[in-house]
Amino acid sequence: MVEFIVYNTLTRRKEIFEPLHPPFVGLYVCGPTVYSDAHLGHARPAITFDLLFRYLRYIGYKVRYVRNITDVGHLENDADAGRDKVATQALLEQIEPMEVVQRYSDNYHHNMDQLNVLKPSIEPRASGHIPEQLDMVAKILDKGFAYISNGSVYFDVEKYNLNNHYGKLSGRIVEDLLASTRDLDGQEEKKNMYDFALWKKALPEHIMRWNSPWSIGFPGWHIECSAMSTKYLGDVFDIHGGGMDLMFPHHECEIAQSKIANGNDSVRYWMHNNMITINGQKMGKSLGNGILLDQLFSGNHPLLEKPYDPMTIRFFILQAHYRSTLDFSNEALQASEKGLARLMKSVAMLPGLPVSDETTINLAEWKANCYNALNDDLNTPILIAHLFDMVRLINLMSEGREKITTADLETLVQQFRQFTLDILGLREDPESGPDSQMLPKLMELILDLRQEAKKNKDFALSDRIRDELGKLGIVVKDRKDGADWETLK
Ligand code: ZN
Repeated sequence: MVEFIVYNTLTRRKEIFEPLHPPFVGLYVCGPTVYSDAHLGHARPAITFDLLFRYLRYIGYKVRYVRNITDVGHLENDADAGRDKVATQALLEQIEPMEVVQRYSDNYHHNMDQLNVLKPSIEPRASGHIPEQLDMVAKILDKGFAYISNGSVYFDVEKYNLNNHYGKLSGRIVEDLLASTRDLDGQEEKKNMYDFALWKKALPEHIMRWNSPWSIGFPGWHIECSAMSTKYLGDVFDIHGGGMDLMFPHHECEIAQSKIANGNDSVRYWMHNNMITINGQKMGKSLGNGILLDQLFSGNHPLLEKPYDPMTIRFFILQAHYRSTLDFSNEALQASEKGLARLMKSVAMLPGLPVSDETTINLAEWKANCYNALNDDLNTPILIAHLFDMVRLINLMSEGREKITTADLETLVQQFRQFTLDILGLREDPESGPDSQMLPKLMELILDLRQEAKKNKDFALSDRIRDELGKLGIVVKDRKDGADWETLK
């Protein structure tokens, strides 16, 4: 195994990654709350942890990647009171909550496919794991770190904090939290404002509800991740990931719940991706810059000068280190679009490079540089810089100014494709891929056969071919000695 170094948000330093049970790696990432179409903010964690998933597998680990779907218990403003986001959308659209979940999960999955994000090994839904969550709440109650209040169950942060540090991940101190917590409805049920709900008693109008020993209600937002990560990855697992915005309170709550219920710290390495800004501003619906992924791909948004291909978005996100902030602008996206085109042109032209009886480039050093970048906490900007070094050399080789042997070219083709396509997950442009010549070749064949039909005076057949092609959006224009064709866009 290579030495892979990750930045652990919990210890605030880079550490050599050593899984608990190699070659197995348990990876848990907080997935989307599915009550609206996926937006730009969903793309960065998905792509960051897709890269991690791909790279861990590439260097030989067997990864169980669990990414949940939050379909219950995530209340407005991430609070312990107010409406459930899914249920609110269901009322708005006049459909079942599970229809909301299905609709927006489908949209999310479609967008993830477009971004070439691999499917996780397990994608559990919170609503499908109510018994596991009830068990965990009961355990925490048994151990005396939660209390029942008016049918709801709250985690006792003050008691936990006596022997633990609530806030250790985000660097917060409980006393400061008390001063900064806003007054919210329903908090009179809590002993302290920073206590958080493990189970909420449902109000009469609340439509998503389950039986529990304490009330008919629903789980708090944080407990699902503790319950599902424990179920699928065990009491202790290797990596927990998510966006930085989830560090507090969500991940702090997960740490506290799992510690009490399981008796130990569950997560060995915490990894967080940084946020996206748009034209220098924090992204948010209230600012009118909450761009949906569908809008980004179609160009249908006032902030967008044109549509952007999903691969441009993926490449743009990978051009920054995942722990850096990333600012979206038309200018930056168009620069990425050009860079990606150059990179993909090299992928396409590589196999056809002229070969020589000697190699004048240092292939081993280049490969080592690429790996070193990835092994240093997934440093994709450095990796991409090395890929562009090779793009320059590829151009020189095509002009005969650098040389490569047949065997070295074979190695280079394989490695360049591995870094670009398999690890970074960039998809080859179908226009430049091996299938790109398929349509012209098929058209040549079909038009030859049509010409033959005409020669045999089988005009019914030749017209039929022309009409059927027309239905497929292909226009045939007859010439004296044959026919031209074009596709209607
Ligand atoms: Zn979570």
